[in-house]
Amino acid sequence: MDKKFGVYICKGCGIGDSVDIEKLAKSAKSGTVKEENIKIHDILCSPDGLQLIKNDIKKDGINTVVIAACSPRVKYEEFDFSGCMTERVNIREFVAWMQLPNTDDTQSLAEDYLSMGVVRAQKGELPEPAILENLSSTILVIGGGITGMTSALEAAKAGYKVVLVEKEPQLGGFANKLYKKIPTRDYKEPLIVDTEIEKVIQEVESNPNITVYKSSKIEKTVGQPGLYDVTINTSSGPVTEKIGAIVMATGWIPYDATKLDYLGYGKFKNVVTNIEFEDIARKGTITRPSDGKEATKVAFIQCAGSRDPNHLPYCSSMCCATSLKQARYVRQNSEALAMILYKDMRTPGRLEAFYMEAQNDPGIMLTKADVKGVSDAGNGNLSVEMENTLLGEKVKVEADLVVLATGMVPTTRAPQEYLDGLTLAATKGDDAKKAYLESTPKPEFILNLDYRQGPEIPSLEGAVGFADSNFICFQYETRRTGVYAAGPVRQPMNMTESQEDAAGAAFKAIQCIDHVAKGMAVHPRAWDLTFPDPQLIRCTACKRCTEECPFGAIEEDAKGIPTFMLNRCRRCGTCMGACPERIVSFKDYSVDLIGSIIKSIDVPEEEFRVVCLVCENDAYPALDTAGLNRKTIDPSVRFIPMRCLGGVNLVWIADAFSKGIDGFLLIGCKFGENYQCHFVKGSELASVRFEKIGETLNRLQLESDRVNMMQVAISEYDKLPEMINAFVARVKEIGHNPFKEM
Ligand code: SF4
Ligand code: SF4
Repeated sequence: MDKKFGVYICKGCGIGDSVDIEKLAKSAKSGTVKEENIKIHDILCSPDGLQLIKNDIKKDGINTVVIAACSPRVKYEEFDFSGCMTERVNIREFVAWMQLPNTDDTQSLAEDYLSMGVVRAQKGELPEPAILENLSSTILVIGGGITGMTSALEAAKAGYKVVLVEKEPQLGGFANKLYKKIPTRDYKEPLIVDTEIEKVIQEVESNPNITVYKSSKIEKTVGQPGLYDVTINTSSGPVTEKIGAIVMATGWIPYDATKLDYLGYGKFKNVVTNIEFEDIARKGTITRPSDGKEATKVAFIQCAGSRDPNHLPYCSSMCCATSLKQARYVRQNSEALAMILYKDMRTPGRLEAFYMEAQNDPGIMLTKADVKGVSDAGNGNLSVEMENTLLGEKVKVEADLVVLATGMVPTTRAPQEYLDGLTLAATKGDDAKKAYLESTPKPEFILNLDYRQGPEIPSLEGAVGFADSNFICFQYETRRTGVYAAGPVRQPMNMTESQEDAAGAAFKAIQCIDHVAKGMAVHPRAWDLTFPDPQLIRCTACKRCTEECPFGAIEEDAKGIPTFMLNRCRRCGTCMGACPERIVSFKDYSVDLIGSIIKSIDVPEEEFRVVCLVCENDAYPALDTAGLNRKTIDPSVRFIPMRCLGGVNLVWIADAFSKGIDGFLLIGCKFGENYQCHFVKGSELASVRFEKIGETLNRLQLESDRVNMMQVAISEYDKLPEMINAFVARVKEIGHNPFKEM
């Protein structure tokens, strides 16, 4: 497109009091931007200001709009002019609100930002969405428990076709095993509540939008969102369904109680798990397995395996409320006693009222206790030994039945452990891999993805098998675009929470289908119509992009040339940063584009200049908030937003120093186990690449302190200015970049 630029400068929100606007406008004049197309307005986002721009678009044919005003994170609806390229230049938060008014430094900062914005608009192009053909809008739900059934019903109610696959011969999952469920409303009456699972099963099976496959498993999942071919192994043979997005709701299994021998499981018949106790309660009177006698003194041992580094390092979340519910089963006989022995009672939210109801029942004894063991007390009775209780230092209680509140293990754990073991064995050579495959039974896989990066959802180290999702910001997302985890496969939760989760995941699947139909990215760049468009003619088949893509979006052909599966792509740009040939570009984001922005920065000989690449997800908003709070940052710093630090290409740093830039700073999300990176590993990958920067600096004979990488959370806006200022102070201490004089 032939670009006709219009530059619009706002004087509102204090900008006009801080910057010489006339001078700023003059600075924008260039061969690209004509003087008559540079306009100043008192309040650009007002109806009058917006009309000014719209009129120019209509009458003068302006198609490339550069707006120097507030942060691009605000007023995006107002400044959205369809069919036009719009570039936002943040001179409110980053200049007017962050700098001393009307100084030379403030003025040159604003002028630099404006020329950087013009360069970005010059280099970028209006995106055209890549809409693939023959897209399916059917949602596959794997798992026919309460989570899967609720997801299926929610999606069906929204008008989507659903394929529901359940490995068992009947729907219902663990809810089938429950006698009653934890109440959610009135904790007094009724005492215990029916699961009503049959009603849900009936609703699913009679819904015309839902196709149910029972006694079935996923044999293979090929393709990408909108274009999955899923082969389902059914009792009457394989069936292939065209699928748009997937909800993985395969739930959990109870922790293996045989590993808890110190609690007597497997040794004493009258030690049972909480799941086995449901079956006992369903029969009416609570009887014990050893002799069928009625149990009138039942001890519940909480955290049986949970919150224990030797078993399950996490809280299984539902066991405390489950034992409170099961104590009510015991108390159906008013003479019976239920004893709940806990590390801590964890009943978040309204469940606290349920806990208080139990405290009011004289037949329910609750005490904090470190349970040390269970031993035989004769006649089938059991003795529970405890320490640090509310009743005394060392206490023994006798019970005629012991219930272990065992925790939840996600169904994703076994495949993850198997695949991790296989990867480890493979690193030791082919023989070790072969031996592993021969000696280790293969667990049941869930998705069987036909992806270069592996058949299942990867899980971060320490996630103990829960389907890897960015639990802080995007609960249902996994590292495989279009596959959404819901219910206890994602994190431990009870039945009611699983139903809420199921609805969330169903809506994410719908959103995914909707976005790929428009050629738009799914979260987090949910508006983005650009996509990676590599110049494969120059590709050396080094496979770095394929290996570094956090979402498994890149396959490769027999020669190792990457194939970008666009509907799997989240547009993070990690492949762009990874490619040593610099051939991966987006319409508005490329190595050349960012490099040109850096080159457009004015570097006066006597001044310091520091370039700071900031991740748009956490660091950029933190800077905006710093501006809002009138925090000051050294005016020598020029911020350039990045989609993710995973896109950083080291050539920019070399180019910046060659040009005379004095310091270079990268600010990204925190990484590690509790990661917050919106693209999972972007900032971590950047840090790995960053370690190699030493070679570049050595080559240029520059001090290593001139570059730095920082991790921040969005909430650390108050610390961030100090961190940046301390870096700039160090650069100033080192002195000017000697390349400035060349
Ligand atoms: S932009 Fe990100 S998600 Fe897309 S292919 Fe590149 S690395 Fe993968
Ligand atoms: S990183 Fe670049 S050169 Fe390497 S395989 Fe990917 S596109 Fe090709």
